Amino acid sequence: MKTIDDLGDLSGKRVLVRSDLNVPLDGTTITDDGRVRASVPTIKRLADQGARVLVVAHLGRPQGEPDPQYSLAPVAARLSELLGSSVRFASDTVGVDARRTADELKDGEVALLENVRFNRGETSKDDAERGAFADQLAALADVFVSDGFGVVHRKQASVYDVARRLPSAVGGLVQAEVEVLRRLTEDPQRPYAVVLGGSKVSDKLGVIDHLMTKADTLLIGGGMVFTFLAAQGHGVGGSLLEEDQIDVARGYLERAAELGVDLVLPTDVVVAPEFKADAPATVVGVEAIPDDQMGLDIGPESAARFAEIVRGARTVFWNGPMGVFEMPAFAAGTKTVAEALTQVDGLSVVGGGDSAAAVRQLGFADDRFGHISTGGGASLEYLEGKTLPGLAVLEEDR
Ligand code: ADP
Ligand code: MG
Repeated sequence: MKTIDDLGDLSGKRVLVRSDLNVPLDGTTITDDGRVRASVPTIKRLADQGARVLVVAHLGRPQGEPDPQYSLAPVAARLSELLGSSVRFASDTVGVDARRTADELKDGEVALLENVRFNRGETSKDDAERGAFADQLAALADVFVSDGFGVVHRKQASVYDVARRLPSAVGGLVQAEVEVLRRLTEDPQRPYAVVLGGSKVSDKLGVIDHLMTKADTLLIGGGMVFTFLAAQGHGVGGSLLEEDQIDVARGYLERAAELGVDLVLPTDVVVAPEFKADAPATVVGVEAIPDDQMGLDIGPESAARFAEIVRGARTVFWNGPMGVFEMPAFAAGTKTVAEALTQVDGLSVVGGGDSAAAVRQLGFADDRFGHISTGGGASLEYLEGKTLPGLAVLEEDR
């Protein structure tokens, strides 16, 4: 994959950068600027090289036309603060203001275009409609840099089609993400443990399937555990259960045995009569879940065992909280496993929106992990072994 260095001297060149600036907003206040911060290094690096940097990004899910509540204007202001230099904001994406902005931009200056999803062509399933919009985007610039990892699994105009129209490269953020994901799928250091949790088995089937052929140990916790326990014949009371996935779970248990992968399930769980923060919690063995209780966390014995396996691994990928971490009474399993990840002598990776939120909420600093992925959907699709259009297009010979 071509990197920014392969694009040659960018001084004076107009560079279109696709960033992921899809931040949560409360009115016009950014409540978490993590994605803006993550996007700054690539933008800054290009500006420092004297490029004229045009940033294109989306915010939320507007319906293909301008919608003021999804304006990127607040993000332009935050970007200015973080860069320490004024960022021009174009009030449209490819219209009169965008073209004027692109023309007037000076070497080393940065501008942000208005929400790319204010244009129908961006997410259109019709190749011609998407292509026509990508032509307009491409006309604004000389080269393209793909740095929005959260969107590389989308076949959209500003991610995919524009890369076919301009000399293109990956930005530093996408490059870093891809390098980590590659280390999780190609020749990982062993032992390799994969920890999966979260709410649904059905969300994670592809990942279980693909990583089962790569990992030495698969640890399963979270809400999905109960479908596996049901597959082993245990009663799970009122716990989260996907009846239609019981056979699939049984299939994974059998396949793990065939492949010689250790598929580890909890031996104890924390149960409560209700899905409530102050519900009375007790610990029971997995074979003794009362009918009128539901499992909301893995138990202490299981958490200790999971932690020991994680600490002993050289490569760990974790996706999905071990319990309902949002409620303190059911956060211990997630916390114990997170702590173990910070002690790994090797590569530890946290992927998934709620998992990343969980480690932060539980007070772990980002730098205690090898990597926290910024793109939930994109990293999971990569780990399912799928081709990501926004990456594949950068490999094409043109
Ligand atoms: P990610 O976003 O990291 O991929 P998921 O979206 O799959 O993770 O799952 C996160 C959710 O799973 C959390 O909101 C958490 O409360 C929930 N969860 C974890 N364990 C349980 C459980 N035993 N019962 C119900 N929900 C659970
Ligand atoms: Mg989630």
